[in-house]
Amino acid sequence: MNRIGAHLIAGVFRSFGVNALVMETYKGLDLGKEFTSGKECFPCQVTTGDILLFLKKEKESLGDNFNPEDYIFFMPESEGPCRFGMYNKYQRIVLDSFPELRRVKIGSITSENSYALKGMIEKERTRDFRKAAYFSVVIGDILDRLLWRIRPYEKERGATDGFIERSMMTMADYFESYGAKKDFDRILDKLEAIIEEGKTLIDPDLPPKPLIGIVGEIYLRTHVHSNQDVIKMLERYGAEVVNATIAEWVNYTTHDKVREAKVGLRLNLKQFRFAKARSYLEQVLSYGGDLLYQNIRLDQVYKRVKPLLDLAGDHRVAHLEKTLIKHDLYSFELGTEACLSIAGIMEYMHAGYNGIANIYPFTCMPSTITSSIMRPIMNRERIPFLDAPYDGTYQPGREAGIRTFMYQAYQHFKRHGRKKHG
Ligand code: SF4
Repeated sequence: MNRIGAHLIAGVFRSFGVNALVMETYKGLDLGKEFTSGKECFPCQVTTGDILLFLKKEKESLGDNFNPEDYIFFMPESEGPCRFGMYNKYQRIVLDSFPELRRVKIGSITSENSYALKGMIEKERTRDFRKAAYFSVVIGDILDRLLWRIRPYEKERGATDGFIERSMMTMADYFESYGAKKDFDRILDKLEAIIEEGKTLIDPDLPPKPLIGIVGEIYLRTHVHSNQDVIKMLERYGAEVVNATIAEWVNYTTHDKVREAKVGLRLNLKQFRFAKARSYLEQVLSYGGDLLYQNIRLDQVYKRVKPLLDLAGDHRVAHLEKTLIKHDLYSFELGTEACLSIAGIMEYMHAGYNGIANIYPFTCMPSTITSSIMRPIMNRERIPFLDAPYDGTYQPGREAGIRTFMYQAYQHFKRHGRKKHG
């Protein structure tokens, strides 16, 4: 999904002895479209194409030495009503349709067990892997936030992209060296040095710009090829942008498991089914412990970086759930990313953002729900709101739509100003 996070998590895999690399992406879209029917969500087409092109190139370069058992694709999945959980099953069917690819594996790490790893790493090291992987997700979010904070104000055009690219590679090396040892302090020391260096790229004489918040479907809003680099386009028309984080989704899946286990516990206690209640209690404690750990790490990282530079903070998922309940907009019972997007928009609104963009694959169910609930509220509150669906085609009106949105955001900025990052 997001390039930085992919490189850092590959570093974590390598530190645990897995020979992981980040695949080229978006170059195999023709293959992805050829082997899907058109009814699948766009990220499914992109990732299917990426896998097929990678394997095609491997077969061409290795010839008879190509061994399908040498490969395992890391492909997260999710349960719930939308189609994300079906991607890897569909991709399995596609791979099985080629006799020589039947033994290629797909490592699906399901959010059903909060991305607990099964089989890819020795069982006794799984917990450590998850801790290091989560930490890499948070650090990846910080590097992304650094990019969006510096680039609109850079002294030298293009300098930030090069700087972040180098920083990403440095951090991936750090995760490879220190991830398995869980030497997170050393990684944080390096992150601080990167932020200090990044600050020197900012032109202090440039005035603040309108602040735009992004929500939406996690793949589209973070995959710059699929979203045609929408953040850069918004910046070109005068924005400073903050996108929702990846850690938020990871925390959401864990939070949801705690919530579901609590529901099971209550129901079984009411029915005097104590053996089942006990098993739910164990789940509450286990997932609750994971969530506590994740929140502590999240706080630790943001506490270290925010005194150095005013980067946007991250939301607590429990707080987002309370926001939904308070405003009676949606329910965590219904699940999907709409929980995060709807509450995220409310948070941006309360934080005084000058405009909000919802980025998603064409026909995405949770993002369409988000739009239908939030657009009337945004109209009422007179906050510029942009729905931006993508399906791989280039729409001639897209740029004009973004310019119009940015014009409205600028008017909002002139009338209301903007707050500092919370
Ligand atoms: S979140 Fe949207 S794009 Fe992703 S699987 Fe669900 S419906 Fe498809």
